[in-house]
Amino acid sequence: MKTLFEKIAAREIPADIVYEDDLVLAIRDINPQAPAHVLIFPKKVVPRIAEATPDDHKLLGHLLLKAAEVAKKLDLKNGYRLVINNGADGGETVPHLHCHILGGRPLAWPPG
Ligand code: AMP
Repeated sequence: MKTLFEKIAAREIPADIVYEDDLVLAIRDINPQAPAHVLIFPKKVVPRIAEATPDDHKLLGHLLLKAAEVAKKLDLKNGYRLVINNGADGGETVPHLHCHILGGRPLAWPPG
């Protein structure tokens, strides 16, 4: 069965796409937690960062570099936060690895 993000990548579910290449897709979060809230994920299904393998190292590097590029495109000059939730305690709800790009307001630390 396809993951939610596979369905979005296949255009089976609509999304507000902000960046796409052959390896990753970035979309606006449907329930934004900050003025700018984008999710960037690999098209390849890696369920979560804990299940990434050494074979994924180039893909993961690409994901982070593109996250920074998307943040620049979103004009988050005052800073931003990248978040990867892993497992139940991490707050993961979609089992397809994704990185949140959050910005447009000061973000508290520690997170809740
Ligand atoms: P996480 O809780 O880290 O697994 O993040 C999953 C994120 O996906 C949440 O922030 C949701 O708001 C977001 N989300 C769920 N469904 C959609 C959707 N159809 N389009 C865009 N974002 C979504």
